[in-house]
Amino acid sequence: MNSEVTYSIVVPVFNEEEVIAVTYERLKKVMDKTGRPYELLFVNDGSVDKTAQILSQICQQDTNVKLINFSRNFGHQIAISAGMDNALGQAIVVIDADLQDPPEIILQMIEKWQEGYEVVYATRKERKGETFFKKWTAAMFYRLLRSITDVDIPVDTGDFRLIDRKVCNVMKNIKEKNRFVRGLVSWVGFRQTSVEYVREKRFAGETKYPLRKMIKLSLDALTSFSHKPLKLAIYLGFLFSSLSFLYLLFAIFERLFTPYTVPGWTSVMATSLFFNGTILTILGILGEYIGRIYDETKDRPLYIISSKAGFGRGGESHE
Ligand code: UDP
Ligand code: MG
Repeated sequence: MNSEVTYSIVVPVFNEEEVIAVTYERLKKVMDKTGRPYELLFVNDGSVDKTAQILSQICQQDTNVKLINFSRNFGHQIAISAGMDNALGQAIVVIDADLQDPPEIILQMIEKWQEGYEVVYATRKERKGETFFKKWTAAMFYRLLRSITDVDIPVDTGDFRLIDRKVCNVMKNIKEKNRFVRGLVSWVGFRQTSVEYVREKRFAGETKYPLRKMIKLSLDALTSFSHKPLKLAIYLGFLFSSLSFLYLLFAIFERLFTPYTVPGWTSVMATSLFFNGTILTILGILGEYIGRIYDETKDRPLYIISSKAGFGRGGESHE
C-alpha cells in the first residue's frame, strides 16, 4: 500500500464514454502541477457503454490511476462513498466526470486545505448549459432544504469538494443507505470554507440525473436531515380540527335558528375530497420514512464491487 499518497481525486462515472478520456487528461495535468503524489480513483457505477474499457486502458498506462467497477448502477452518492472508502490520500477531492466542475479549481481548494481548512466546498456562482427547469428546481430545493433542516447545508453546492483525511475517516463510518453525501459532510462539522466557481456546460453526453434520480436525491436529503415533514400531520390536523369545529358551530346554528334545510352535498364532497387528499399525502410522507427505516434494517452492503484495478503496486487485482 502506498500510504504516502497526498491527494485522492474521486470521480463517480456512469456512462461517460464521450468525456472520460478528456476528463482524465485534464485531471492529470492539474494534479501533476501539485508536485505531490496523487491518485485518480474512478468509480465506475455500472456503466453499460465503453466507459469501463476506456478506464481500464488508462489504468494500465498510468500508475496513478485506480479503478473500481460496481456490479451494477448503485447511484452517484454511493459511488462517491465507495471512492471515499478506498481513497488513501491525505486530502480527498470529489469531482464529477463530465467537466462541469473545472478540475483547475482543485488547486484553489488545495490552497485552502494547506491553510488548515478540513472541508473546502465549491459553491456555484453560475450554472451554464443547464435547463431553466433544472436550475430552478435545484435553487428551490437547496433553499427548502436549508429552511427545514437544523444542519447548516450550504446552498448551491454540489458534491464537488475537498475533505481532509480526518473527515473522510468519519464519513467511512457513516453507514446510512439512502445517503445525501453533501449533507453528511456538513453534518460532521470540522473547519469548513468555500471557493466559488462557475459551473460549466457538460463537456459531452447527456445528464445522468433524470428527474427520477433528482427526486430520489431530494427525498433522501429531506428525510435524512429533517423530521419536519412528519410533523406536518400534527400541524395540519390541528388546523383542520379547529376549522371543522368552527364549521360545526355554524352548522348547528343554521339548523336551530334558520329555516334552511341545507342539502349539504357540496360541503360534504369538498371536505371529504380535501381530507382524503391530506390523509394520502401524509401517508405518503410516512411511507417515505418507513421505507428508509426498512432499508437501514436490512443491512445490505452499500455497494458491490465486481472488480478493482490499479490498487497495490501497479498490478491488477480482482476481488
Ligand atoms: N453519476 C453516477 N451514477 C449515476 C448518475 C450519475 O456515478 O447513477 C455520475 C456522472 O457520471 C457524473 C456525476 O455523477 O460524473 C454527476 O452526474 P451528471 O453530470 O449526469 O448530473 P448533473 O450534473 O446533470 O446534475
Ligand atoms: Mg453534470
